[in-house]
Amino acid sequence: MNCRVCDSTHLELAIDLGAQPWCNNFLKPSEVGREPFYPLRVVFCHDCHTAQLDYTVPKEVMFSDHTYLSGTTRSLAAHFGAVAAEVDQRFFHDTPGKSVMDIGSNDGTQLKHFKALGYDVLGIEPARRIAALAQAAGVPTVNDFFNEELVSRLGRQFHVVNAAGVFFHLEELHSAAEGIRAALRDDGVFVVQFLYMKRIIENLAFDQIYHEHLLYYTLQTIERLLNRHGLALFDAYLAPIHGGSIVGFVAHQGAQPRTARLQALWQQEDDDRANDLSTYKAFAGRIDQMKADNLAYLREAKSQGRRVFGFGAPAKGNTLLNYFGIGPDLLECLVEKNAWRKGLYSPGMHLPVVMEDELAAPPDIYYVLAWNFKKEILANNRPLLERGVEFYFPVNPPDS
Ligand SMILES: [Zn+2]
Repeated sequence: MNCRVCDSTHLELAIDLGAQPWCNNFLKPSEVGREPFYPLRVVFCHDCHTAQLDYTVPKEVMFSDHTYLSGTTRSLAAHFGAVAAEVDQRFFHDTPGKSVMDIGSNDGTQLKHFKALGYDVLGIEPARRIAALAQAAGVPTVNDFFNEELVSRLGRQFHVVNAAGVFFHLEELHSAAEGIRAALRDDGVFVVQFLYMKRIIENLAFDQIYHEHLLYYTLQTIERLLNRHGLALFDAYLAPIHGGSIVGFVAHQGAQPRTARLQALWQQEDDDRANDLSTYKAFAGRIDQMKADNLAYLREAKSQGRRVFGFGAPAKGNTLLNYFGIGPDLLECLVEKNAWRKGLYSPGMHLPVVMEDELAAPPDIYYVLAWNFKKEILANNRPLLERGVEFYFPVNPPDS
């Protein structure tokens, strides 16, 4: 295998999470036990320092029919609103005919905010049902994968190109980056939002490692990729979403000077050795300690006869459940709001998904897989907390 960013063959295994099913593949009863497993391993490139998966599940398997809806949580919708407002205020507030393209536009949550600010919007979303939802909600959406070829078919440029998370799922990485360069006006701003690997490591949020996430960036490693395609970061900040995400602002190389806050984050990566293999290896060791601690906690609860349900059925929860080996013996079910997962089973561990409003009674303990919405979950479940239901967060960042 060659490095996905710089083509180097100088790669080394950093984190091995074993064979895992594709984490978004929630199963119908007839599919249970028949799901395929794929290697889930993070390798480190000694040349460009980018952490990445060494195995690719084909994108047609992962993205044509996924059921993740970005509009389902209020905190995420609010974050998208804030990003749109900031981009508009700083760069294009008084620009006539301003336009935005969102790559991996999901149900149109991000674009609705831009539309409200007067932008001509276009979404690109490969999942058929989700693209149809966005279209029905008044967000023009192309149902396709994003790459250079799609951009030349569109034949237009945009003031803003946005990519939240999805940019890092892209199998056709270099074609997508070229497509972004081609679609971005000379004065355009590419807003790239991604999980910050430095924070994933600090937070022990290893469940963010799954097959959709082919690459795990820091500021210094994504800059390598951007530079290769004539683009450059000029500003970035850390947002609390998903336990720590970067909102990065990118322009054509040489178009914008670097801000002081980007320089400061950049320096912090050096100070904390965020781009060193030793940091990744230490992370792998901490994940194994966490596994031992969590299994001890769940077995103790079980031995005391306490009932434990999973809270949420997020895709990332399956990385944790499968790596820790948490099956129906330790967790009775996963409680979820997204009705598309109703009646399904989690891949690998085969935990039944139950709708929140169907529960006869709450458990003694909620084991919270959707930990990145901690504040929202605790606020929404105050009555349960008052009745003594415990909420256990296996991943628990200090600022979440
Ligand atoms: Zn590399």
